Amino acid sequence: MPFDPIVAETTRVADHREPVIAHAEQTAAARARLEEYRSKHGRNPNFCWILFDDVGWGDFGCYGGGVAVGAPTPNIDRLARAGLLLTSCYSEPSCSPSRATLMTGRLPMRHGLLRPPMYGEPGGLQGEVTIASLLADAGYTTQAVGKWHMGENRESQPQHVGFDDFYGFLSVSDMYTEWRDPYFFPEIAYSEERTKWIENQPFNKCFVHATRGGDAEDVEEVTIPVLSTLDDKWAAYSEDFIKRMGGGDKPWFLYHNTRGAHFDNYPLEKYLGSSPAKHPYKDTIIELDDIVGRLVAALRETGQLEHTMIMVSSDNGPEMETWPDAAYTPFRCAKGSTWEGGVRVPAIMAWPGMIDADHASDGLFNFSDLFPTTLALAGAHASIPDDRFIDGVDQSSFLLAPDGRSHRKYHYYWLQTMFSAVRCGEYKMMLASISDDSRDVMNPGGFTGVEQKYPYGRLYNLYLDPKETHSYLIRKLAYIEAFTSGMSHHLRTFGKYPPKNAMSRPS
Ligand code: CA
Repeated sequence: MPFDPIVAETTRVADHREPVIAHAEQTAAARARLEEYRSKHGRNPNFCWILFDDVGWGDFGCYGGGVAVGAPTPNIDRLARAGLLLTSCYSEPSCSPSRATLMTGRLPMRHGLLRPPMYGEPGGLQGEVTIASLLADAGYTTQAVGKWHMGENRESQPQHVGFDDFYGFLSVSDMYTEWRDPYFFPEIAYSEERTKWIENQPFNKCFVHATRGGDAEDVEEVTIPVLSTLDDKWAAYSEDFIKRMGGGDKPWFLYHNTRGAHFDNYPLEKYLGSSPAKHPYKDTIIELDDIVGRLVAALRETGQLEHTMIMVSSDNGPEMETWPDAAYTPFRCAKGSTWEGGVRVPAIMAWPGMIDADHASDGLFNFSDLFPTTLALAGAHASIPDDRFIDGVDQSSFLLAPDGRSHRKYHYYWLQTMFSAVRCGEYKMMLASISDDSRDVMNPGGFTGVEQKYPYGRLYNLYLDPKETHSYLIRKLAYIEAFTSGMSHHLRTFGKYPPKNAMSRPS
């Protein structure tokens, strides 16, 4: 049956939930598949989320990059062929907002991480209900590895918000090394006084290990040589976790976050010059692809591949202000913006035997959707909180049913506290954004731009115009009602469920 999200009606789920497009037959088919799995295997699936940092929509071969842009990604491409490749998966414009949305099923205006906390700033995930805590309540072993960046304060650390174990760093790659590198920060690196000054700042210079409810213990100071080994060490830690869990009968959730390919990239020695591009960013992509290969191999070797739903994605678009330590998006602008280049991310969903292979979809998927979707697959749907607004939509039948379609009618774009745009079908209506500068190809906007508002709005057809260069509004006024009704419904939810700011100072 043909399906058109622009004309599709939505169904109310609850006051505190995003309305959905109901697909009754598809939902029944997915439920039957899941019940068959449970009765055959007598268990719930594992979840393995592999999240890259600042990797562009187009970096992987399966998205048109890979060998074409000087860094082949055979392992990721193979995984994409084994599952579902999403072409319209949306993150938030930067790291911490995106990650907290994955963890909570809520948009940044609700979980309060409107921008990344930096250099030991207070503020983070504390007080939120996370997917890790709900899966732990449902009997899962929960493991976080790698980059955290949802608050360095104790209460926001992973071992206090639902994870049994954490091995990684609490902040973001550049914070550990930028000031040590005389190429990027000569005025600190060559000054004893300034080096001492930054060393005395209250942020942790080490990567850490922590177990549930305990304190984070320093493992090693993240100098530049140590940084280059982190992704390898973290992958080994996750491989060990997968192997250990293979011997037991408890389901598990592994949240594996790479350091790469956030600036600045210092590849592990064996990867130096390993990409056809020979650039550190591209060499890092080669390593990230190998890491996907290693984790999938560990699942296969331990007989857990058919019991594990794997998600591979990136937390936001490429950071073009540090070009060329960033790479490929075919869309306009970059990280920090609500243009497609900032928020449209690669996303591969694989679960052999349960998610059909060789399948791509342009259906809308938001990072918040992973929260209710995962809980539905874990049989823990009833644990979704009802005391707060949950923006995520249960997309389990989109993933599991043959030729599944998205249950999401609208994607809402926010730039911190500024409502920016809404997408429905192939159209995006934009009311405000961050400026970029098409004359300066080396520095196209992102965090650098200024806020700009469009009094009449702009309408982009993302199929005809993926770079969002021609507003189509005057020719397409018939769509206005469809967009404004979705927008005003969304904005009204903030009346009953007021926005939150978890950061110490608004930016
Ligand atoms: Ca990021």
